[in-house]
Amino acid sequence: MVSSITVTALRSCSTTIAVNPLEMRHNRSKIGSTPDSVAAALAVWVTFPSVLLDLKTPLSVYAVMESIDTELAARIRQDILLGSYSEGERLSEAQLCETHDVSRTPIRLALRLLEREGVIRRRKGRGYMVQSPTVEDIVQAVEVRGHLESLAARLMAQESNRLNYLPKMQRAMEKLDASINELTRIGRLNDYVTRQAQTANKEFHSTILASCGNDYVNYTCQQISHLPMLAVGSMVFDRSVDDTPDQFERGIFRLRLGNAQHQVICEAIEDGDPVRAEGMMREHSHTMIEYIQTFEKRDKSLTVADLVAFSGADSLPPTA
Ligand SMILES: [Zn+2]
Repeated sequence: MVSSITVTALRSCSTTIAVNPLEMRHNRSKIGSTPDSVAAALAVWVTFPSVLLDLKTPLSVYAVMESIDTELAARIRQDILLGSYSEGERLSEAQLCETHDVSRTPIRLALRLLEREGVIRRRKGRGYMVQSPTVEDIVQAVEVRGHLESLAARLMAQESNRLNYLPKMQRAMEKLDASINELTRIGRLNDYVTRQAQTANKEFHSTILASCGNDYVNYTCQQISHLPMLAVGSMVFDRSVDDTPDQFERGIFRLRLGNAQHQVICEAIEDGDPVRAEGMMREHSHTMIEYIQTFEKRDKSLTVADLVAFSGADSLPPTA
């Protein structure tokens, strides 16, 4: 499954990720048959879900931003999402200390963080157990994010200072347009260009979340952003669009449709039309769920690890 999909932004990170050799070694040993490039990609995504994909920033910069317990939590979360532990499996603190070569204190802090995320749960007198999210959990979280983003669009349309942020949204749409034009010119998927598209999409969405006037909307989005496909501005790319010219055309069409929806949202906000802004954002956000459903139809045994690979972004049809 993962082989037909690529995690674009992250794949090309393999050189920068080398700044963290410990993590690379760990990922290789855990992921096993997963190609190193994808393993590296997944490592970056899971470690930095909310800042992901800004590949111009050296990873070392991100690394110093993260504390040891946050980084440990990212590693353990990654192992859980990739299926290295079975559901309900007990997490041994001693074993985790040995695996990650750290003391108990940061491991305990990391486990508390993961408990708050709902990735593990505490059992009375028995330590922590794995509670890995399912594909259905991801779908539910995407639904929640869709409502939060719709709410943000509605609130922003009612903000008196909304016009100040429109140029930023306009620039993001122009960048996305330029990326789509470039893909059309190339005639096939291209990692660098799709990464640019993803960055532009993130700029558009994060501007609305940050400018809606209600900090809890953005904050709540961040609380679920550690899950695959839940980072703000996440896009899904399906390699299969490269199979035939027809599929590629359809992929390009979806990209253009997504950016046309951005335009409608932007205009509704400019006009101070909260109902239209909210409705269009809801439709725009729902695309992600349609993609997951499409992937499920194609592969009945779709796993969260597959979704991690999809959400890393590469190739065509984006969503949200
Ligand atoms: Zn979008």
